Amino acid sequence: STSASSSSIKQVKLDKESELRIEVANDTSLRLRLLNGTAEIFGTELPPQIWLTFPPRLKFAVFTWHGATIEMDGTTETDYTADETPMISYVNVHAVLDGRRNRAKASSSDESKSSQGPRVIVVGPTDSGKSTLSRMLLSWAAKQGWKPTFVDLDIGQGSITIPGCIAATPIEMPIDPVEGIPLEMPLVYFYGHTTPSNNVELYKVLVKELAGMLERQFTGNAESQAAGMVINTMGWIEGVGYDLLLHAIHTLKANVVLVLGQEKLCSMLKDVLKNGPKVDVVKLQRSGGVVSRNAKVRQKSRSYRIREYFYGLVNDLSPHSNIANFSDLFVYRVGGGPQAPRSALPIGAEPAADPTRIVPVNISLDLHHSVLAVSFAKEPDEIISSNVAGFIYITDIDMLRKKITYLAPSAGELPSKYLIVGSLTWLET
Ligand code: ATP
Repeated sequence: STSASSSSIKQVKLDKESELRIEVANDTSLRLRLLNGTAEIFGTELPPQIWLTFPPRLKFAVFTWHGATIEMDGTTETDYTADETPMISYVNVHAVLDGRRNRAKASSSDESKSSQGPRVIVVGPTDSGKSTLSRMLLSWAAKQGWKPTFVDLDIGQGSITIPGCIAATPIEMPIDPVEGIPLEMPLVYFYGHTTPSNNVELYKVLVKELAGMLERQFTGNAESQAAGMVINTMGWIEGVGYDLLLHAIHTLKANVVLVLGQEKLCSMLKDVLKNGPKVDVVKLQRSGGVVSRNAKVRQKSRSYRIREYFYGLVNDLSPHSNIANFSDLFVYRVGGGPQAPRSALPIGAEPAADPTRIVPVNISLDLHHSVLAVSFAKEPDEIISSNVAGFIYITDIDMLRKKITYLAPSAGELPSKYLIVGSLTWLET
């Protein structure tokens, strides 16, 4: 039964293997607690009795394996219980992965060489629940003491950092149902756009950089190598999107591919992957609880995500407004830019834009409202191969005084003077 816009305190009794699906109201938060029994949110167990506060618009499910009573206080957009979920098939996948982690761990203590645990990549169309499944697999693994690496290749709706990036981070504890993934020290590469078609080549190069860096980090770290990876991908699965999936599978050496709700994609991948190194391709059902998001909702959630980076989930961070001289900052763009004029080329040759060329950008009003990445590069030609320290947001450009005002997570000097600009913008609201 769906109860729209219900308010005040209510109790919901959940039978075993069922879930309470909730969309928090648009402008108020919701309090919820586990009264009795056991329950989890996307793989993370709820503490008994303690009230948790969920921010506006959050969409989630409280699932119970053995039965539970939940108490809710506040307004929801919708809340209803469902007893048909794919959770058993998901936890079975977890059990198989866990076995492989144990085997990797056991064999790496025998020999001097450490063994690779499962590298799982989750693929499927948009709104198939990829991020949610990734999260469950990570939290279940962390609950058992593993520290799997989460790799997020979704530049549109990433869950490690702001949009326009690919990133990786070890998951050491079950993921907090409210806070999400802790933003401690993720490994982040800035692509600068929210769709890969802006610069497909650059996207591939960055995935390769990220993979190389992870490979180096795994060397000599038997623990994280045995725990393996969970890789979340974009919902673009046709044409170039499909090529990018294959590229990610090969580059990150995935050995398990989980395909959510797409027969065709599953059989295509099975077919193309049967000849290389052993890769298991497993089809899984999409959960009926996954909420579809249209372009406008996606745009909004990108914007909230950038706001969260600077201000925190509940305005608990205080970003700092800084002023710099134009001459203090060096802004670069990757790819595109002005091409060689036709007149400078041999007759008949077409001017080709190098998609990974580093182009210096003159500071102008065009940068107003842009979100820029602060590179760890020490020289401009290291920009593509370097990960980024964080982001700034341009709030004012004074062409007369040649001063730039920007918002940064903290006061003081930036970790580097090399900034990368893409097409990522934000309108502070
Ligand atoms: P995309 O590729 O478009 O980024 P996705 O396939 O990763 O999407 P998710 O982000 O996992 O999809 O799910 C979409 C939304 O549905 C999220 O807000 C998520 O919290 C919500 N959701 C997923 N599963 C459930 C469920 N069982 N009950 C309620 N909400 C759910």
